[in-house]
Amino acid sequence: MRRETSGADTNSVVAALLRDLAAVQKSQQSQWGYKRAAAAVLALEEPIEALLQPDGTLRKIPNVGPSSTRVILEVLQTGSSQTVERAVAESGKQPDVDRRRGLGDHFLSRAQVVAALRNTKLRGPTLADYRGDLQMHSTWSDGSQTLEDIVTAGIARGYSFCAVTDHSYGLPIAGGVSMSELAEQHREIDALNKKYRGRFRLIKGIEANIRANGTVDMEPGELGQLELVVAAPHSALRSADDQTARMVGAVSTPGVHILGHPRGRKFAARPGVAADWRRVAAAATRANVAIEIDGDPSRQDLDYSMVRGLLESGCLFALDSDGHSTSELAYAETAIAHARLAGIPKERVINCWPVDKLLAWLRRAL
Ligand SMILES: [Zn+2]
Repeated sequence: MRRETSGADTNSVVAALLRDLAAVQKSQQSQWGYKRAAAAVLALEEPIEALLQPDGTLRKIPNVGPSSTRVILEVLQTGSSQTVERAVAESGKQPDVDRRRGLGDHFLSRAQVVAALRNTKLRGPTLADYRGDLQMHSTWSDGSQTLEDIVTAGIARGYSFCAVTDHSYGLPIAGGVSMSELAEQHREIDALNKKYRGRFRLIKGIEANIRANGTVDMEPGELGQLELVVAAPHSALRSADDQTARMVGAVSTPGVHILGHPRGRKFAARPGVAADWRRVAAAATRANVAIEIDGDPSRQDLDYSMVRGLLESGCLFALDSDGHSTSELAYAETAIAHARLAGIPKERVINCWPVDKLLAWLRRAL
């Protein structure tokens, strides 16, 4: 299948083509070069058409070299790229490239995120409605931000709360925290909450792992030590088998508040969990669990097209960055853009609630 621009966002199409080109390179250096260029195009704040100059050349984009620029100009002129199609055909990797091309549905480029945030015709939460981020990682697991970095970066973004949700001990590959480390982390959180009282509230959370059988990899008494539990799948993310029962089991587990990155998909890499998401959303509604839109640009999980189909279930939603550094807190904007495109009423987005209401809901007092 050829990549076409019709109906799609050109930045996404160009980035996908550059990644295709990266995939068929023999030298690692040129693989990296095209991948860097793809990332630069995806991160552009404006549609790439706006960079075309009257003389037919392209305004310089950092990290985009001459051969990538040639692909961009081809796409702008013809809607597709002969250069890429030829390189893929000659590489003998067409089936592999086709397979990955099927894994890019409903991902938004940064330019689309910016457009959705600015589009006043869309319903759904605005950036100003958003009061805090409920999934992020610190130096206690695989993140690079300290707890106080999260507080100061959150305040700088106008938030009144954030949840620290480092990985649970069941995921050692991501530096999962032990229960004794967690107790130590909670003492640090208490101290920060004292220091920033009235200005900012840090919430004691965890990202627990959903096992293949739908149970969560922490004991009930352990879950009870946390203010917020995000349960998320990190295995069996390439299987085509239906996993509705697994996801229904996870959201029905007492102590769970948010179903995090529900599919576990990754851009151009893996499709994530296959399930009847309406049934999962119905179970989440019964259990008073929020379904997450993970704003990590490579996840965007669930996406707006799927969320639209879940609105009538009545479930709540959480819009989170899944940030591992303070600069990644901006990923929340990707989640907000999906929520706007899906038309989620802001009353159903727990990040838009006043902190007291959110804390009452987390305590199951609401
Ligand atoms: Zn995760």
